[in-house]
Amino acid sequence: MNGTPLESLKKIFGYTTFRPPQQEIIEGLIRGEDAFVLMPTGGGKSLCYQIPALHRPGVGIVVSPLISLMKDQVDALVACGVRAAFYNSSLKSEEARQVLALLHREELDLLYVAPERLMSEGFVERLREIPIALFAIDEAHCISQWGHDFRPEYAKLGQLRQLFPKIPLIALTATAEPHTRKDILERLGLSPSQCYVSGFDRPNIRYTVLQKLKPFAQLSNFLQGRREEAGIVYCLSRKRVEKVSEQLRDAGFSAASYHAGLPAAQRQRVQEDFLRDDVRIIVATVAFGMGIDKSNIRYVVHYDIPKNIESYYQETGRAGRDGLAAEALLLFGYGDIVLARSLIENSDNPEQKRIELHKLNTMVGFAEALSCRRQVLLGYFGDRLEQDCGNCDICLNPPELVDVTEDARKALSCVFRVDQRFGVGHVIEVLRGSKKERLLQLGHDHLSTYGIGAEKSQEYWGSVLRHLVQQGYLEQDVSNYSVLKLSESARPVLRGEQTLRMAKPRAKTVALPKAVRRKVGDIEYNQELFDSLRAVRKGLADAAGVPPFVIFSDVAL
Ligand code: ADP
Ligand code: MG
Repeated sequence: MNGTPLESLKKIFGYTTFRPPQQEIIEGLIRGEDAFVLMPTGGGKSLCYQIPALHRPGVGIVVSPLISLMKDQVDALVACGVRAAFYNSSLKSEEARQVLALLHREELDLLYVAPERLMSEGFVERLREIPIALFAIDEAHCISQWGHDFRPEYAKLGQLRQLFPKIPLIALTATAEPHTRKDILERLGLSPSQCYVSGFDRPNIRYTVLQKLKPFAQLSNFLQGRREEAGIVYCLSRKRVEKVSEQLRDAGFSAASYHAGLPAAQRQRVQEDFLRDDVRIIVATVAFGMGIDKSNIRYVVHYDIPKNIESYYQETGRAGRDGLAAEALLLFGYGDIVLARSLIENSDNPEQKRIELHKLNTMVGFAEALSCRRQVLLGYFGDRLEQDCGNCDICLNPPELVDVTEDARKALSCVFRVDQRFGVGHVIEVLRGSKKERLLQLGHDHLSTYGIGAEKSQEYWGSVLRHLVQQGYLEQDVSNYSVLKLSESARPVLRGEQTLRMAKPRAKTVALPKAVRRKVGDIEYNQELFDSLRAVRKGLADAAGVPPFVIFSDVAL
């Protein structure tokens, strides 16, 4: 292909400019470099391999998990005049033969292949006989168990690097959960220097997290003045969907329910009513939203905590597609963690359970974070902003910052003293000088850091350690009992060359009371519920390896 990538973009695809990282990725690939691309759905990942395939000699081999997706992509390419085809189990044998013939005659620019087909012995042999422009692995998260859509047939793709060491490889996904990301890089033999992350920010969405106190009152308060606007209210259970939806209608709002327990015809009708603005509010479980193309959704409310940050991002991302200001409101209460956790506990795959609990815990971390929401959210996806957004609840009403340099040094030294072989709970016990048998047996009561933080609460140390993890001074090895390890950036802090500040927790975190307290503020609670919440929170923390955090002021059920 003659000309520049930009000329191809205009001539073949009919667009005038590249989106920010596209050009860089395309040029790198044309030079023969690998790439790992993280971009949200709709970000424009396809062009990142389609254009280089046209500019390099040979055929571009694209791995894609869904047969239906392949056909759509190929049809669209053929319509643009690109010589594209797909090769998968949907083809009749005669059609398959024709595709292979085109491949061998070197008359294809792009060939979409199902992963199991690609890695079959016969096919690899064929590919050795013809020039190949590049390998593109679309939906690359399918290679990782951490992704939401693990596919065993993707596992074999790890061999591509060895089988074709000279051919550039590009992996693409919209799922950028950190473990998935690491997994993809490792399994495909890509180096982290070839990562392109971009486009996750949705600048017109304002993120707000409210402590869940009287949720329905909080919701209807939020909806005042928005009666004519379209929005979604997500709940974790069908029962809650029905209840909230009914309460909204009783309060005079135009609301309808949507969940997988409703008849298909009814779901269809509700969806259409919403698209036509005949109903303003959809109260729904996660079942609602896939493939909904409505640009004027003004707000997304999470009445309960979502199970993970990916879902939260996807669901809030449905607001403000038109680019106008939109709101994402999360009502966050610990009682919901019970529900979220029980949904996860239903899984009978222990590995999956562990992963999901970790993700739930990360979601809790987001809700509890006291720095710019957008930064935390983007940070999770590996993306970042030059400066805080200035528009989320935290930026608009910043918490007080306190200097924690001394305590951070104590905590980091303690991690070092226990040989970087223990998790949060143990480190806190050493810091606070716990008399637990285990500590005595290990001789940890003789460490120089034993008891140096005795005057501060367990919760306090939990928040310091979590802050250190969130800011990258400590790493938590989830594949190994969530052991804490120092990262390179901890050195200047340990050497006293760097000061650290941390947001002062907003809600009062209190030590667990021994006696029954009848009231917290003006909210009544019962001891049984209180204990079960405490147990759940602790269980969650243990399972996911994070400090237990108990904030009582929002236990309002
Ligand atoms: P993804 O695979 O990241 O979900 P696609 O590659 O399917 O996204 O692209 C999403 C949409 O954006 C498509 O309609 C595509 O044609 C369009 N698109 C991609 N790049 C550009 C660009 N540089 N200019 C305009 N539209 C683009
Ligand atoms: Mg795509």
